[in-house]
Parts: sequence; C-alpha cells; structure tokens
Amino acid sequence: MKTAIEPFRIKTIEPIQFTTRLERERYLQEAGLNLFSLRAEDVIIDLLTDSGTSAMSAQAWAAMMQGDESYAGARSWYRFEAAVQDIFGFPYVIPTHQGRAAERLFANVLIKPGMVVPNNTHFDTTRANIEAVGGKAMDLPCPEASDLALEAPFKGDMDIAALERLISEVGAMQIPAIMLTVTNNSGGGQPVSMANIRAASKLAHLHGIPFYIDACRFAENAYFIKQREAGYEEMSVREIVREMFAYADGCLVSAKKDAFANIGGFLCTRDDRVAEQLRSLLILSEGFPTYGGLAGRDLDAIAVGLYECLDENYLNYRIHSTQHLVDKLHELDIPVIRPAGGHAAYIDARRFLPHIEPLQYPGQALAVELYLEAGVRGVEVGTVMFGRDVHTGIERPAKWDLLRLAIPRRVYTQSHIDYVIEAIAQVWQHRDRVRGLKIVSEPPYLRHFSAYFSFI
Ligand SMILES: *Cc1c(COP(=O)(O)O)cnc(C)c1O
Repeated sequence: MKTAIEPFRIKTIEPIQFTTRLERERYLQEAGLNLFSLRAEDVIIDLLTDSGTSAMSAQAWAAMMQGDESYAGARSWYRFEAAVQDIFGFPYVIPTHQGRAAERLFANVLIKPGMVVPNNTHFDTTRANIEAVGGKAMDLPCPEASDLALEAPFKGDMDIAALERLISEVGAMQIPAIMLTVTNNSGGGQPVSMANIRAASKLAHLHGIPFYIDACRFAENAYFIKQREAGYEEMSVREIVREMFAYADGCLVSAKKDAFANIGGFLCTRDDRVAEQLRSLLILSEGFPTYGGLAGRDLDAIAVGLYECLDENYLNYRIHSTQHLVDKLHELDIPVIRPAGGHAAYIDARRFLPHIEPLQYPGQALAVELYLEAGVRGVEVGTVMFGRDVHTGIERPAKWDLLRLAIPRRVYTQSHIDYVIEAIAQVWQHRDRVRGLKIVSEPPYLRHFSAYFSFI
C-alpha cells in the first residue's frame, strides 16, 4: 500500500471552533497583529509549535493515573530514570520541568564568562542561557544549510572543519563543551548524520572537550539516519539511538517534543562530578533530584512517551505527514525549505513576498495573512525574531525570513494538513496584495513574543 495512514484511532476529541474572516480581522487587530497574543480558541489549525502540543496515548494517560506523588524516591521517578537510562545509556539522569531549565543548569555548571560553546545551530533558549552566564554561543552549520532549496540528506550537520579551526583559534580550555542539536531545530528541523555525530565526538575527545547532544528530536533524527545514511537501513531506531548517544558525554532533552509530554525535560551525563553540581543547583530552583519540578504523573507520561516515539510505524507517519505538506507546496511552486525536515515546513517568505523588504517583516506579514485567510497559525522565524541586536539596539535583516508551520504530533489528520495546503495556495494566488508591517511597540528582549505591529 502506498497510502500512509495515521497509525492510531481517535478515542477522545477536542472540538475546533470555526471563525469567519471578519472575526479574525478583529482578533488580529486586538492582538496587535501578533499571533502569540491570540486566544488559542480563535485559531482553527494551530501550527505555532510542536512543543508540548502532542496528543498522548491511552497508555500514557493510564500511566499518569499510576503517578506516585511522594516527595522523594517516588516509584514514578524510578520508572522514569530506568526508561531514560535504557534508551540513552547515561548513568546520571537529572529531571527538569522543561528543556530550558536543563540548559540553565548546564550553563551554570560548565560555562565561565568568555568561554565559547559551538553547536550546529543553537536553539534560541540554549543561546540565551549560554549568554546569560557570559558565554559565547557559536553556530557552525554545514555549508549546505545556507542553500534553502538544496536537496541534501543531512543539512543539519555541523561544519567539522570550522569546528577544528575554532578549537585551534580559541584553545580547548576556552571550550567547556561542544554541542550538537538533533534534529537541527533552528536550522529547519534538518537531521544530523551519524557520521557527523561521530566526527564531532572524535574531535571533542581528541581535545578533552565534553560532547553534549541537544536531543529534543532524537527519534526523528534517528529515523532520518535509518532512511538516508548508508549502513543503517537494517538497524532498528532503538539501536541507532543507542549508537548516537554512545558518542556523547551527555544530553539535554525537552520531553515536550519527541516524547509527547505536555511538560518536562531532563539532562544526562556520564560525569559524576558534573551530576553532583547539577543536582545541587536543581534543588535550589527546580526541586528535589527525584522529581526536578515535575509531578510524579509527568515523569510516568514521559517514561511511556520515550518508548512510543521509537515506534517505526509512528515515525514513518510522522515524517511522511511533514513531507506531504512540503511536497505539495513545492508542486505549487511555493518556495519551501527542501528537503522536508522532521517537525515543520518552512516557507521562504522573502521569495514568497518579494515586494516586501526584510525590514517590513515578510515572515510576519505572511503569518498574519495566513491566519486571516483560513485561521491557520504559524510563526515567523526571521527579522522579527533575530533582527534586533539586544546590546546595540541596531536592527538588520536576519539571514532569512521564514514562516514556520510546526506540526504537533498525532494531533491533526491528513485532511487538516490538506486544508493548510489549500489555505497557503490561496494566499499564493493573491500574494502581491499582501502588505508589509512595521513595529509599533516592542519589549527589550525576545520581541517576537509581545511586539505590536501595524500594516504599512
Ligand atoms: C524546545 C527546544 C529547547 C527548549 O526546550 P523547552 O522545553 O521549550 O524549554 C531546546 N533545544 C531545542 C532544540 C528545542 O527544540
């Protein structure tokens, strides 16, 4: 059979509230043309993020009922720890309330002011946590990543030659860790090859530098390796995951992504001294080391989700549905990042709206128009998000202006995705009428969350 189907039936549903264009115009004006300020119930298809928005299984909900809410040493903790150790293979597991809490602990324990932390591409909270302790977050994406339309299998890879140059320039002592983000979220959800993981690890260890994986989408990445990298076709995703993490000294994970949890995260390490320091800090802000800011039931849901996301029928459906969206848009000549990444489609808004200057925010303009057209919410990844230097206040066009449409896991069916495709095709038909935007007011940091816009 060629038709890929959702590998589940639906037991519980959540109604979608439909809105008219007139209503959406009003909601958007009230929100200052910022889609983060909308009420979620006024959105028909919500592709703002795949984080914490997944549908849990009957098994995960059942596990939540078994949650042990004891303060210390709860059964839930032991089930969680065993699942993480089994899948990732690290001895020390630190639970946190989400990924960025793990990042903050990590940054505080490992990084001193002036130190440099390279990554294929830092996720924005990773970067912010490194900078908050005075470190320098350095992106070293592979050259293929900068050509948005180039068909290459592993555009999430790190530039190993650039990493080598960086180490010889600043010295290994100034690099507290080398990181690698799988899949490369800020780089379009593109996968990282096993060869690249191995090479980064080898270089790190040659210089005595710890190697940590930002592993939020580890299962999607492993599935891409199975599909695209020679020698891995016959291996199970479980085995591929084991190999990926065997090269690392630890990992940072947001359980809100691949693990289907609505909240949660963790940090793993092989270093007992680092683990001890992490735990001391954990108690200060997150909680006791056997719950780390999570309820026992959350730990149980994550323990189940971590195994479910390794199911290859699920991963096939997951990757297929993202690919379907990207392929259909490409067939309509709509500029999208190719090939499809794991969790989202990225439309190249500069090419979609060539009459709108980067400083008139084509990504945001497209996000606004798509909401008006059909109630679909995506997110700008471009000049609104990255254009202002927080230190100097100077504004410049970001490298790209994209509209990201992230797909929540197991939430929408193929007909929902077809609705999104039709909506984008309609906007494409009248794209020359879409107007640019200006910022009316903005906060000093992370302006994309709360800036107000108006049409030019
Ligand atoms: C989401 C994400 C994080 C942060 O996790 P939160 O749970 O949102 O705090 C870190 N790194 C990557 C690659 C992510 O996608």
